[in-house]
Amino acid sequence: MRTEFLAYAPPCLSDQEREEVLDTLHKDWLSTGPKTKLFEEEFAKYVRAPAALALNSCTAGLHIGLKVLGVGVGDEVITTPMTFCASANVIEHAGARVVLADIDEDTCLISPAEVEKKMSSRTRVLLPVHYGGQPAEMDQLNSLRRESVRVLEDAAHCMPSRLGAKMVGETDNLVAFSFYANKNMTTGEGGMLTGPVELLDRARVMALHGMSRDAWKRFQKGGSWEYDVEVPGFKYNMNDIQASLGLVQLKRLDELYARRMEVVETYEAHFAKHEEIRPVQVRRGVQSSYHLYVIRLNLETLRIDRDQFIVEMAERNIAASVHYKPIHMHSYYANKYGWRPEDFPVAFDNFKRMVSLPISSRYTKEEASEVISVVEDVLKRFRR
Ligand SMILES: *Cc1c(COP(=O)(O)O)cnc(C)c1O
Repeated sequence: MRTEFLAYAPPCLSDQEREEVLDTLHKDWLSTGPKTKLFEEEFAKYVRAPAALALNSCTAGLHIGLKVLGVGVGDEVITTPMTFCASANVIEHAGARVVLADIDEDTCLISPAEVEKKMSSRTRVLLPVHYGGQPAEMDQLNSLRRESVRVLEDAAHCMPSRLGAKMVGETDNLVAFSFYANKNMTTGEGGMLTGPVELLDRARVMALHGMSRDAWKRFQKGGSWEYDVEVPGFKYNMNDIQASLGLVQLKRLDELYARRMEVVETYEAHFAKHEEIRPVQVRRGVQSSYHLYVIRLNLETLRIDRDQFIVEMAERNIAASVHYKPIHMHSYYANKYGWRPEDFPVAFDNFKRMVSLPISSRYTKEEASEVISVVEDVLKRFRR
């Protein structure tokens, strides 16, 4: 057994990131400036997006995305119950109502058929989540777009993900990415919103107090102090310290992904045909970034529940987690909308069985094998 606890998803940083941050600290521009601008350009190029706006979180990108799509009081936004709370919280912040569409059993992605059933005259935005880094069924979801119904993609888990030949981000939809500390590439905290130039121009103003011109332009030689507030905006901009991390992580992303896939392939080789567990399926023709590696326990064959399974793993020095407690089971949403756990039966059933195994570009095949041994040990010990 391991003597040291194996963390769930540590970041993978190198001396290159440290040097780039130091370089920024030696310059005199710490906030949104030349490095943030370069990071936006490089990121847009990588995901082949029309344009990109760097922000201090993915949550900020989702919030501003809804605002520039004109979402407000009386509107409805359709999303999945199987996501992080931020995807739903921003809908509340925009003043709209959360409408949930249940997930597909194999992939845990939002079901386009369920989305279609939930659409009404008040639907303004579809907010699919690329769960675990697997792209949602965008062909079907995009076919549900109307003049008054737009799509905002929660791509917090992507980097890099592909749908056929297209990168997630290579679209006219708005797409929000996360660089939170445990995501596939990180800036500590940070996010990126991609999409059409004209929508992102409005988002850029909204992300910095609603001011007509940002500080970097105003404070450069030949710049003017003057600005106008066009809307009461937010304070959501990324700074150059974060962008320093992002520039290097993006440059290293293909290498980071290759290392992550070694862990995934070790897991897959073992778990794909296992009786007691069923990994979340990734469908043909897509590339998942494998932000998460989620197995579902066949609880009928075990004498313990999921929570005890995670406790047993921790006692054997391996971290595990759950992604996610479904939106409708959080007290705020259950109380406001009167939702019961069984109202979204596929999400509820999966939630009870889910375990996210440790995953990081830091980990090797050896560490993946240790995780497998511990999973095996717990299964054997508590078999019915
Ligand atoms: C992490 C995450 C977010 C929020 O990202 P932040 O950058 O922390 O704001 C949103 N949606 C999903 C699905 C996430 O996993």
